[in-house]
Amino acid sequence: MKKLLTILIGLTATGLLLIGQTNEKSSKGFVMDKVVKSDKEWETCLTPQEFQILREKGTERAFTGEYYNHKEDGTYICAGCENELFSSNTKYDSGSGWPAFFDALDETKVKIKRDLSYGMVRTEIICAKCDSHLGHVFEDGPKPTGLRYCVNSLALDFVPIK
Ligand SMILES: [Zn+2]
Repeated sequence: MKKLLTILIGLTATGLLLIGQTNEKSSKGFVMDKVVKSDKEWETCLTPQEFQILREKGTERAFTGEYYNHKEDGTYICAGCENELFSSNTKYDSGSGWPAFFDALDETKVKIKRDLSYGMVRTEIICAKCDSHLGHVFEDGPKPTGLRYCVNSLALDFVPIK
């Protein structure tokens, strides 16, 4: 009888433990696998132009990128880690010479950070997965968000809808 009781207590404890773990997971929400590389590693997998934009927060010259006037249907992914960032559904022609989106694919895909470089107050867009610089977000975009995600073509790759 004592043995049975011990087993029962044991089972209950295991059950509680499992429930506890499930709760912990759901309360943490979505956790993204981070891509972490040294500058040396980034240099080997990016072109020098991509490295300058993604890792040194550069900006390509307006109207020179591959995607500012690109109108195909599909998904724009991070050139550094292939994280899906923007949908062609939210792309619009801002006239600025860079690809512009009024929303990210998902708010977990990008991070937003205050950027005070070059004597300007701007809001930087960073890939949430590999921390690469993508561009800047401005508050002069169209409805419904009023935002303009202004992204370097060199920070993006494009996956067409099949
Ligand atoms: Zn990335």
